[in-house]
Amino acid sequence: MPTTDGREGDFLRHGALLTVDLGAIQENHRRLSARLKGSTCAAVVKADGYGLGAAQVGPALARAGARDFFVALPCEGLALREALAALEPAPRIFILSGFEAGLGADFQAAGLVPVLNSLGQIAAWRDHARSVEAPLPAAIHLDSGMSRLGLPPAELDVLAADPGRLDGLEPLLVMSHLACAEEAENPKNREQLALFQAARARLPALPASFANSSGIFLGPGYHFELARPGVALYGVNPTPGQPNPMAQVVRLQARILQVREIDAPTTVGYGAAFRAAGPTRIATVAAGYADGYLRSLSDRGSAFLAGIAAPVVGRISMDLITLDVTQVPAESLHPGALVDLIQPEDGLDRLAEEAGTIGYEILTSLGRRYRRVYHSA
Ligand SMILES: *Cc1c(COP(=O)(O)O)cnc(C)c1O
Repeated sequence: MPTTDGREGDFLRHGALLTVDLGAIQENHRRLSARLKGSTCAAVVKADGYGLGAAQVGPALARAGARDFFVALPCEGLALREALAALEPAPRIFILSGFEAGLGADFQAAGLVPVLNSLGQIAAWRDHARSVEAPLPAAIHLDSGMSRLGLPPAELDVLAADPGRLDGLEPLLVMSHLACAEEAENPKNREQLALFQAARARLPALPASFANSSGIFLGPGYHFELARPGVALYGVNPTPGQPNPMAQVVRLQARILQVREIDAPTTVGYGAAFRAAGPTRIATVAAGYADGYLRSLSDRGSAFLAGIAAPVVGRISMDLITLDVTQVPAESLHPGALVDLIQPEDGLDRLAEEAGTIGYEILTSLGRRYRRVYHSA
């Protein structure tokens, strides 16, 4: 219902309602922790908590017991530190993009821990540690075959031969990242695991972190001391092709603005891309590609109303979607009625599939014009 927080007037100013179940995010952290047995479950809250709001999601995860957070960028780390300010002891916040000279004051003021991705980043963080005459914490990222971030093999050789490059630092963690974790049978997983194990054996002994959401489901050999799930916390299925082990977190409901009856050969929307073949009832709802309802869903997506699927017809506009609601009972069709664009049961993965993308992109595209309501446990 649009009235969960008693502010109907506020919702009327918006086209759609995004409900985020913080209790379900906490439940997901518990489920992943249980699967990890002895290993610790961190929380990845980059990209504004995968589009759901790091300021809300971060504290909820901390209340569920998360003590280690990962974000992509220093600006995200600074904002997260503020959102987590009330917590004792202060959670660790790791910055995946690493460190650059000039950011020392930021990192220290907020107690951010850089994930050092290269010899250059190690040297820069060490220079900063020298300048402040204090040992500074860091994680070391080794590239195990993704060729994206992390020390490449040649840089690992240099570091292994000269571990003094870490003097003045307090390394907390050595980590790497899986390229194909959501494909359990992909041999790349075992290859990366073997490379990571061999690589970390060449460095001073440190706790290790390897698994993202899907990596946790590859088995205990992938868990190490700290796992770094992101997307599974937010309800996306980390085991594609198998039942989703996670609780669902988001529901997206958009308001019907207008309902009309059309008949052949009337067309619908931009480009006159859809032509009615016969008597058709069309509902126009208040969300569009500007809200992250991707244009690739034109003529492909479906919404749900009174439990009945209503296919998207015609192109997605910036602010509007047109649905074929011919099968929906007339009493459910009136301006102001809400249609599910993301159903609470399985809507996220279904929508991603229809859009030809992944749940990650659906989440991080969720619009800023939605009325957002957070449910706590
Ligand atoms: C984004 C990211 C994660 C989290 O991945 P999910 O697939 O969302 O669980 C973990 N580690 C690194 C390095 C990442 O970039």
